[in-house]
Amino acid sequence: MGRAKEMMIEHEQNLGAAARYLVSKGYLQQCPYHEQIYGGGYDGLGGDGDFYRFAMADRNRGENGPVPWAAELEAREYTNLLKEAYEEHAADECGWCAKHRDE
Ligand SMILES: [Zn+2]
Repeated sequence: MGRAKEMMIEHEQNLGAAARYLVSKGYLQQCPYHEQIYGGGYDGLGGDGDFYRFAMADRNRGENGPVPWAAELEAREYTNLLKEAYEEHAADECGWCAKHRDE
């Protein structure tokens, strides 16, 4: 497996971990029935800057903190991942629930 492919897989894994972290912090929601994550958006994550302060503090706790996967990342990579995860789940509700309701 090439290095580029490896990095892509690692990125996907980190993105999933970032989304779960945001769920645990209440910035994203996860549907209890379908496991789908939603509630993100493009309005920026924690606009007042508080979010990133807490997120950085969690990262600095390293392997024993809530984001052990981020311990090896550059600060910039970490915040970009969180932002990407938040934007990736830019929906107001679980897509499956919405679909069921509309049927
Ligand atoms: Zn659902």
